[in-house]
Amino acid sequence: MSEEKQIRAYKFRLYPSKKQTELINYQLWLSKELWNHMLSVCKSKYNKEKKFPTKKELRELVKNKGLFSQVGQELADRLIDAVNRKIKLKKKAGFPRFKNFSQMKSLVYPQFGFSLGEKLKVTPFDEISIKKHREIKGEIKTLTIKRESSGKFYAIFTVKEEKQQLKINSGNAAGMDLGLMNFAVLSDGTFIRNPHHLKKWEKRLAFFQRKLSRKQKRGRNRIKARIKIAGIHEKIANVRNDFLHKTANMILSNYSLIALENLEIRDMAMNNHGKNINDAAWSKFMNILSYKAESAGSRVVFVNPKNTSKECSSCGNIVQKSLFERIHNCKNCGLSIDRDLNASINILNRSRNAQRISRDLPDKANRATLGSRGSNACGDRTEVLPMKQEAHEFIHG
Ligand SMILES: [Zn+2]
Repeated sequence: MSEEKQIRAYKFRLYPSKKQTELINYQLWLSKELWNHMLSVCKSKYNKEKKFPTKKELRELVKNKGLFSQVGQELADRLIDAVNRKIKLKKKAGFPRFKNFSQMKSLVYPQFGFSLGEKLKVTPFDEISIKKHREIKGEIKTLTIKRESSGKFYAIFTVKEEKQQLKINSGNAAGMDLGLMNFAVLSDGTFIRNPHHLKKWEKRLAFFQRKLSRKQKRGRNRIKARIKIAGIHEKIANVRNDFLHKTANMILSNYSLIALENLEIRDMAMNNHGKNINDAAWSKFMNILSYKAESAGSRVVFVNPKNTSKECSSCGNIVQKSLFERIHNCKNCGLSIDRDLNASINILNRSRNAQRISRDLPDKANRATLGSRGSNACGDRTEVLPMKQEAHEFIHG
């Protein structure tokens, strides 16, 4: 039995009362003021003494200023960690910036000050209504209260839990072509359509964006329209996220090996032509698929994307075609099938060849085109947090 643990984040919608909403917003405002104060202290100390304050010194600055002690300490630590990250990584990380109210989105409780029952009891807001749409298994470590741009509040819990036992998946191998007409086509002929309810929300978004552009600058209605638009953006992100998670679960429960094109290489080859709105969804999907793979007992491999849509999956002949030709017609062997299906079969074949080669040649040769990624499990609407930095981004957005 393995004793390994993993950290998972759960995000639940909060329904604070009007009074609680005011109080949370006040605490966020206070956090923003303290953040900016600490940051100016950091800068002036550095200008005078060529060094930054210590964690302890910063923590003194937030003491007894009206924030719950733990939340204040976390804020000080978050700032000094960001400063240190900048020093350590040089150019890679940005220096922390002054924030305005809308940029201060979260209050973090690293250990104490909250308990979760029917409602979420948290200092100093008392009991807040919460929608727990799934059960938390494991030990709750931290709580973040987060305000999204739409004005909605969420509670994010990080939870330490046992790593699940690995399963063995006895499904087939499949190649997968991600596309525009369909979200994906699998080499066994399965077509996965783009979620059509997304269109409805995108239309609504366009409608309100047009409306916003007609509103007077600085008017009350303009602010209202902004909030409405932020809400629709959030809705679209949720619908898309749901779709990506459900699709990944479906695929991982049916196939033991999933081969995909390495999109980084493909993007370079396409020289950014044909880059489209789906790119973000694709790379997110690949991440979800990769980190869920291990616990599903499946493997995800990436293959060289060169000519996957031109090459004939039956005879290897190169068949030139424009983006608009939907059918692959091979004059050499007579194969006539959907172009994306042809591509997905090529992708599957490449994963097989690559595997065979990688067994014969132990090193280097295949690393560029064949990479296997797979890590932890995760349910719908929760995220496994592999690294501290990613956890930070997930929580603070
Ligand atoms: Zn052919």
